[in-house]
Amino acid sequence: MPRGFVMGPVTCPATSEETAMTTVHDHRRLGRGLNLFDTDPLIGAGLPYWLPDGAAVRHALEEYIRSAERRAGYQHVYSPVLGKRELYEISGHWAHYSDDMFPPMDISGEQVVLRPSLCPHHAVIYRSRPHSHRELPLRMAELGGMYRSELSGVLGGLTRVRAIQLNDAHIFCTLDQVAEEAQAALEMIRRAYEALGITATRYRLSLPGPGGKYVAAPDKWQRSTALLTEVLDRSGLPYEEARGEAAFYGPKIDVQVTDGAGRESTLSTVQVDFHQPERFDLRYIGADGARHRPVMVHRSIIGSVERAVAHLIERHGGAFPAWIAPTQLVVLPVSDAQSPHAEALAERCADLGLRVETAGPERGSLGARIRQARLVPYQAVIGAAEAAGDLVALRLRDGRRLDPQPVSDALAHIRALIDAHSTELWGGATRS
Ligand SMILES: [Zn+2]
Repeated sequence: MPRGFVMGPVTCPATSEETAMTTVHDHRRLGRGLNLFDTDPLIGAGLPYWLPDGAAVRHALEEYIRSAERRAGYQHVYSPVLGKRELYEISGHWAHYSDDMFPPMDISGEQVVLRPSLCPHHAVIYRSRPHSHRELPLRMAELGGMYRSELSGVLGGLTRVRAIQLNDAHIFCTLDQVAEEAQAALEMIRRAYEALGITATRYRLSLPGPGGKYVAAPDKWQRSTALLTEVLDRSGLPYEEARGEAAFYGPKIDVQVTDGAGRESTLSTVQVDFHQPERFDLRYIGADGARHRPVMVHRSIIGSVERAVAHLIERHGGAFPAWIAPTQLVVLPVSDAQSPHAEALAERCADLGLRVETAGPERGSLGARIRQARLVPYQAVIGAAEAAGDLVALRLRDGRRLDPQPVSDALAHIRALIDAHSTELWGGATRS
């Protein structure tokens, strides 16, 4: 039986860096303690693997994102994590970003690299079919792998990794559509943060700084900066300009979050790019029958899955919103006599798509089992009265205890809260 919901002892020895962390919610420590993810020197630094409970969190997050994107008119694609060096020479990554890329591999006389971003693949996919202005804005999304050759000294937990799963999308659109698309992306970010129970620390307009890592096209930088400024001003969000934080191909809006130790990082971004459409010679046929160049809006709602989960762990200390929780409901039979009813309830939960565990008396006293399951949003206690009446007495993670109620009512209510991606455990329920 999986022990996923049990807050086990932290078995890995803490590194000196971890010991130095004074914060309670260090995602590295908690992530291991909660059996969410881990690393192994044999796999390598910066290459964490996801344990079943971490994979459940990640699936919930990925399903949320894909569903939100589908509703917002995005189409999903898959593209390979490798590409020829030439692809990145065209995109500009090779000239401006190669310090962060893994060295190329020689295969049958060709140089192939692990991709440092998804944009070039999506530009090529767009280019593979002719497009009419009627198809725009064309929103292409992928939760895909990318790689960064981080130095081993800076690697840690899920925040600095060498293999990254990015929630990415590229919107190919006309110049007139850019502001509205960027605005809509900001709204998707706002809604996602609400569902995740996280807060943006600040919004940043990231502009180029001194140094040569940016593509030289002053007019394009000016136009894209003006567009993003307009979007931010219209949204009414407070923001600050940050020099030296732009992508090499254009400025961006960065949504900043702060971790348990007070360190700020970028989770979500919206970017306007005139550079790659030109480099890949992207076109659409306008209403006038002539060929026009689209603009690319790059956007990420939750950034990389790794960083998003790290932030969720630190923000919630493992007590995730119910829709993300690895185990959503634990069934607790008071004694062995209620075990068949407990198993039947667990099956009903599983049929409803809930992530459920049963913790019977073999795991210890009821009090001990409740304590072990303290991060599980819903604890269903089944005593003799509940078993006889097809009732369930729910305890909520926040300490509330609900009166016994029909099982079908309780499960329907939980299912509805989870489907709504609510951060509420019960709504207006009262303590009994
Ligand atoms: Zn991109």
